[in-house]
Amino acid sequence: MHELGVLIHVVEQVSEVAAENQVESIAKLVLQVGELCSMIPKYMEKVYPAAIEGTILEGSELEIERIVAQGKCRQCGHVFGLIEAKGACPSCSDRQFDILQGREFIIKEIVCQ
Ligand SMILES: [Zn+2]
Repeated sequence: MHELGVLIHVVEQVSEVAAENQVESIAKLVLQVGELCSMIPKYMEKVYPAAIEGTILEGSELEIERIVAQGKCRQCGHVFGLIEAKGACPSCSDRQFDILQGREFIIKEIVCQ
C-alpha cells in the first residue's frame, strides 16, 4: 500500500501552495484519480487523516473524483470503457487500443476556509 507515501507528497505540495498564497486553513482537497492509476481511493481515504496530521490540511475533507479509463480502438476507432470491456474492443474485439484517459492523478482543487 503506497497510498500514504503518495498522499504525504501531495500534502507537501498543497502546503507549499497554501504558504505562497497566505492561506491559513484548508476545508477540502479534491483529487482526480484515473481508474488505471494504481492509487485505490478507499485506501487513500483511510490513510488521509494520518497524512494530514500536524499540517495545514489537518481537519480537512478529502474528495476523490474517479476518472473512467477510456481507450480508442486502433482497428475501428471505437471509444470504449477499458475496465468494463476488459481491454478488448466491444465493436470488433481487437485488443490494440490507445489510452485516452484513466491514468490521471491530479490535484484538482484546494478549497480554503
Ligand atoms: Zn474496434
